[in-house]
Amino acid sequence: MKLNLTKVTNGCRLGKIKNLGRTGDHTMDIPGCLLYTRTGAAPHLTHHTLRNIHGLPAMAQLTLSSLAEHHEALAEYKEGVGKFIGMPESLLYCSLHDPVSPCPAGYITNKVLQKSVIIGVIEGGDVMEERLRSARETAKRPVGGFLLDGFQGNLMTLETGLHLLSSVTAELPEDKPRLICGVSRPDEVLKCIERGVDLFESFFPYQVTERGCALTFSFDFQPNPEETLLQQNGTEEEIKYLDQTKKIKTTDCTQEMTSFEINLKEKKYQEDFDPLVRGCSCYCCKNHTRAYIHHLLVTNELLAGVLLMMHNFEHYFGFFHSIREALRSDRLAQLKELILRQ
Ligand SMILES: [Zn+2]
Repeated sequence: MKLNLTKVTNGCRLGKIKNLGRTGDHTMDIPGCLLYTRTGAAPHLTHHTLRNIHGLPAMAQLTLSSLAEHHEALAEYKEGVGKFIGMPESLLYCSLHDPVSPCPAGYITNKVLQKSVIIGVIEGGDVMEERLRSARETAKRPVGGFLLDGFQGNLMTLETGLHLLSSVTAELPEDKPRLICGVSRPDEVLKCIERGVDLFESFFPYQVTERGCALTFSFDFQPNPEETLLQQNGTEEEIKYLDQTKKIKTTDCTQEMTSFEINLKEKKYQEDFDPLVRGCSCYCCKNHTRAYIHHLLVTNELLAGVLLMMHNFEHYFGFFHSIREALRSDRLAQLKELILRQ
């Protein structure tokens, strides 16, 4: 695994991770995200449907607990985890915990992982001294990259987390990727990128899907003026609407609705024959309307989750593409302003 940085501007890193995978011929762009999976499967999607999503990350995330559960079957199967879960060509990143589920206690060692690149975990809670000690000690070890752990919103305030992050990443070698767990919201992602973080988990679009919502935020930082006017009108209307709905909670694993999404369960979408996002090239937006998704949701059709997941993943991966484009053209400030405004 080798990191090539092509540009570093005000702490934001743009580049490629090369020599990934067993054969060493995979690459991954940074800033980027991993493909979120539940026990090795992209939520709601078959392998075939997953391939229809544009901008799919090269690396999928699965949890150690799900691997451990099938440890014996995998040992017997002998053809590797990737093939077993139907993603033979995907790179796999194995995390200790599922970011959406509560953490189980205790760690498990597993022979399946012995040939893998080890990512060093940086701990230390909200104590600066401990964080720095952890960063310095981990940097001395033969690790392929670093995982910034414990920065989730419910463990510390964003302000404390960001302050710690800047100091921690300053201690890490430039030439290894930094992954953060528990941060996936678009506005928080941008703040972490400014503090030298390269890789993120993509559980946010899954949470959005689970509450019957669609990502609609704009990440087009260089739009043409006519379209902007149209989009702004749309956004204002949706913001007004959001005030009434932001307290909606659906299932346990989801959190409060954010300003980056719309709730398709609401009656106002019953006769809305627009796609989820105008101009979106995903399968859902090309073939279906908001009204149809609303209908699927209120009748509890499983297809709602499939279509929303396809759109939400594609929208989210498009956001990361846009971040890299903005970094390349020195316009990250414009993108950030646009995201924070929403
Ligand atoms: Zn779409």
